[in-house]
Amino acid sequence: MTDRQQQPAELPVASRVSRRGFLAAGGVAVAGASTWASAAEASTQASHADPLNGEMRVADIVVVGSGAAATSAAITAAIEGAHVIQLEKAPITGGTSAKSGGGIWIPNNFWLKENGIDDPRTPFLAYCAQYSFPHLFDAASPTFGLDRNSFELIAAFYDNASPMLDWLTKNGALKMGKGIGLPDFYDYGVLDGWNRVPRGRGLFPRRDDGQTGFGAELMRRMTERAAALGVETLTEHEVLGLQADASGAVRGVDVRSPGGTMRFGARRGVIFGTGGFTYNRALLNLHMKEPVFGGCGVPTNTGDFVGMAGAVGAKFGNMASAWRSQIVLEEALQYVTVPSPMWIPPGDSMIMVNRHGHRFVNEKRNYHDRSRAQLAYDANVPEFPNQIAFVIYDQRNAELYAGSHPFPNDPTGSDYVIKAEDWPSLVAAIAARLKELGSATGGISLAPDFGQVLETTVSRFNGFAQTGLDSDFGRGSFPYDIETAGSYAARQPVARWKDTVGPNPALYPIAGEGPYYAIIVGPGTLDTNGGPVIDKHARVLRHDGTPIDGLYGAGNCIASPSHDAYYAAGVTLGLGLTFGFIAARHAMGRG
Ligand SMILES: Cc1cc2nc3c(=O)[nH]c(=O)nc-3n(C[C@H](O)[C@H](O)[C@H](O)COP(=O)(O)OP(=O)(O)OC[C@H]3O[C@@H](n4cnc5c(N)ncnc54)[C@H](O)[C@@H]3O)c2cc1C
Repeated sequence: MTDRQQQPAELPVASRVSRRGFLAAGGVAVAGASTWASAAEASTQASHADPLNGEMRVADIVVVGSGAAATSAAITAAIEGAHVIQLEKAPITGGTSAKSGGGIWIPNNFWLKENGIDDPRTPFLAYCAQYSFPHLFDAASPTFGLDRNSFELIAAFYDNASPMLDWLTKNGALKMGKGIGLPDFYDYGVLDGWNRVPRGRGLFPRRDDGQTGFGAELMRRMTERAAALGVETLTEHEVLGLQADASGAVRGVDVRSPGGTMRFGARRGVIFGTGGFTYNRALLNLHMKEPVFGGCGVPTNTGDFVGMAGAVGAKFGNMASAWRSQIVLEEALQYVTVPSPMWIPPGDSMIMVNRHGHRFVNEKRNYHDRSRAQLAYDANVPEFPNQIAFVIYDQRNAELYAGSHPFPNDPTGSDYVIKAEDWPSLVAAIAARLKELGSATGGISLAPDFGQVLETTVSRFNGFAQTGLDSDFGRGSFPYDIETAGSYAARQPVARWKDTVGPNPALYPIAGEGPYYAIIVGPGTLDTNGGPVIDKHARVLRHDGTPIDGLYGAGNCIASPSHDAYYAAGVTLGLGLTFGFIAARHAMGRG
């Protein structure tokens, strides 16, 4: 819907007030988008700023962004009777959420209850607390050793996620199918066994024809429902700055629109769901300790909230964190946004090694934590030895998993695939490719003994594949490694490889003869997840812990309640939807 379209008749018509009237009503001041001024300084700037050359509007709630977090807030507020204006910078709605798999991870959800599976609060909170803050975790502490706010955020997720899902489902904004049943990233036996329900919290959208849908379906249903509830969604409306009154309360936003600069006032609150800052190279360079070569989110996620929230005195957290995944390095260098992360390297006669030729991680572990293993630091050299990695595989693996990203349908069908007839030729080809890419990698090259070490690594791996036991990294010994493999890589019915399965389905010996293949991968993001710190009501906090009245955030634009942990597939959307819901309810005086 564009700014010029009519609102549905059953909803209150947005107030169109004169600028003078608006200022009188709200006592508005402008907080610059790019400065880090305090609220008082921002007010001073306001008296000199006059950006308005378009119209001025007022709503109860102004929502910024149109992904899952923002749209959850918009819908919730609209159901609570608010007049909502939703502002989206891009020409289309949906953000990264619409590109996503659409899986949501919701504790104690309806499907678990229907199936008699108990998902009690205490062990859930312990699982999250220990995974998020291992250095603070104390099982005997009432907050598990976490500071009060961090604990309350995790608790708010447990307490509100399932009610959010039920409520948005009842109101026609969500339709989720049954739990797919794949294991969480960590299941029984690790993290002290706190994850008592490692299957069934993950739910996928259900299309009207009964089929499983993905992020596009999630956002289609939510966007349509928002429109039906009278949410005015304005695309190509980029929020540039906040308006704060003399007390520091946020009362509206300044916006660049096709019609000129506009101002939108918010009677009850401004809720941000503007995604992370993967596409702001300056912020990445400032905050990330290690390289992020690219991401898979939408390129309009440029961290705009960072400057705006800073200008009104917000406290920041998690700025060096992200929802991580490995990405094909050459895709990251070629495209603005990478088409797909490498969820799990496909196949069994495959390994991943670093520039020294060593395996450094269980290749079948979850994408987030596997990527974190790329960030390890070697103090002796010093270097990040794993920051560029090489997926190495043979002809059998290339054919059996053809078409499973990053493997092309034709084994050499993508330029980023390096193929050679024997190990020395493969090593030489990788070295040459790295040289070509040197300007983008800080000149990373293979260690002088890479080839020799690689052959030793392959030989050792082949021994593990024969016995079925990976003594170095335990690949295939976790249910996650085996059960999720099929979701991310389909084994093709290639007749000549039909019966080749090892005792451990995650391992198979790499062939004694070429051809061999390599793909260069590096750390990337689904998006970053640092930003202003919020409280259990999704209010943005100042450094002293007090909330900034009228300013809320949810999703990837705020410091994630999960800190640097990725509890399970679907948690990013689960958190975003939940804290969008919490924000809107609080702004409407319901929470
Ligand atoms: C391929 C892929 C698959 C994924 N699958 C899953 C999955 O199955 N489950 C899961 O939980 N997570 C998944 N993720 C991660 C998930 O998509 C994101 O974490 C989630 O969508 C973030 O939602 P959000 O609402 O915070 O932000 P987004 O959906 O990214 O929305 C942010 C919006 O804000 C807009 N915006 C930015 N700045 C401004 C501004 N100044 N003014 C106005 N608008 C602005 C942007 O244009 C964008 O539309 C996946 C990610 C990818 C890339």
